[in-house]
Amino acid sequence: MRRRGLCAPLVTGPRVLFLDHTAALGGAELCLLDVAAHLRDRAVVALMADGPFRARLDERGVRTVVLEEAASLQRVKRESRMPGPGAVSAVLGTARAVARLGKDYDLLYANSQKAFIVACVSAVFARKPVLWHLHDILDPDVFSRINIGIDVLLANHVATRVIANSQATANALRARGGARARVDVVYNGVDAAVYDAVTDAEALAVRASLGLGSAPVLGLFGRIAPWKGQDVAIRAMALLSDRPEVQLVIVGDALFGEESYAAEMRALAAELGLGARVHFLGFRSDVPVLMRAVDVLVHTSTAPEPFGRVIAEGMLAGRPVIATAGGGASEIVTAGETAWQIQPRDPAALASAIREVLANPARARAVAAAGRADALARFTLGVTLPQTERAIEQAVRA
Ligand code: UDP
Repeated sequence: MRRRGLCAPLVTGPRVLFLDHTAALGGAELCLLDVAAHLRDRAVVALMADGPFRARLDERGVRTVVLEEAASLQRVKRESRMPGPGAVSAVLGTARAVARLGKDYDLLYANSQKAFIVACVSAVFARKPVLWHLHDILDPDVFSRINIGIDVLLANHVATRVIANSQATANALRARGGARARVDVVYNGVDAAVYDAVTDAEALAVRASLGLGSAPVLGLFGRIAPWKGQDVAIRAMALLSDRPEVQLVIVGDALFGEESYAAEMRALAAELGLGARVHFLGFRSDVPVLMRAVDVLVHTSTAPEPFGRVIAEGMLAGRPVIATAGGGASEIVTAGETAWQIQPRDPAALASAIREVLANPARARAVAAAGRADALARFTLGVTLPQTERAIEQAVRA
């Protein structure tokens, strides 16, 4: 175990040991970053791998621990059918390390499925309550039945509380047999102040630095992965031959082994003659200014989004948003009022929504303003952190 900044936490509420299996910067980790930073005086984040998430936690003054015992768990995939003996002993070794660390804390808060399994085993040694923050839709097309079966069993019988990041996520847990779990739906919150702090001059400077000039710019934010549908946006660009000035920026990178899809997307843009109009920016940590720099935010996921932070962020940034229906995305937007909504895998529908937004700037401004007001009411940290704290307190009292 490598510890950084560990000392006895100050106690002004339940002390929380957060556990995550990855240190890549996915949406679940960015969500945890804000929760852990808020509770930093009485929390530690234990990570089953080292990576950029740890650096971001450090910057925010959150104590971190990397569990070296978990190294071999990284090889167990979410679609794995049967856990082998290696996986079982890695879970046990990691769980013991978590239990030792957990002695000084009141709650084990698992932020991912692997972390949840480890936390539940630790709870047997440490006799601590477990809260699972569920950030995934338990879909048998994505996760193996054995993984879902274990999750559901543990959610029903070991977790004292589950936080689901949308109704869609909660419903999928119930539909797979998790009806006994005590679930609180808490949407992700975003720090609105960071978006409000971006000035027009900063947004214009970013556009200039990217060579975007005054052309209409679409922004697609999110990690590059087949189900995030970057291909849908690129194909929609090819259909916009009547608007050859329109540009697309793709912000994000392959985070969990989808490098070949990322390479395919660059090849697709080139093959469709869009090399000069589609800009791949890679992973960026200045999303707020980039969102303020684009004219329209597009979201193209081909499978239901468990939540869809990028949609809420685009609304907070005051951009007109075109979101793909399904899962949490359909809970975030009210179609036609706070955003445009299209069906998945439909480049033609996306192209026509883009045409409509660009042709009607007054309506685009009105929808963006309604979206921002709604996001301020539902998806800011001021709204969601108290809900998360309540779930933590209830889990400790259970
Ligand atoms: N993001 C980022 N830099 C990038 C691309 C994305 O910081 O280059 C952030 C984005 O702002 C959002 C998160 O990654 O907060 C993605 O969360 P979302 O719920 O949209 O998708 P997930 O990765 O959880 O499937």
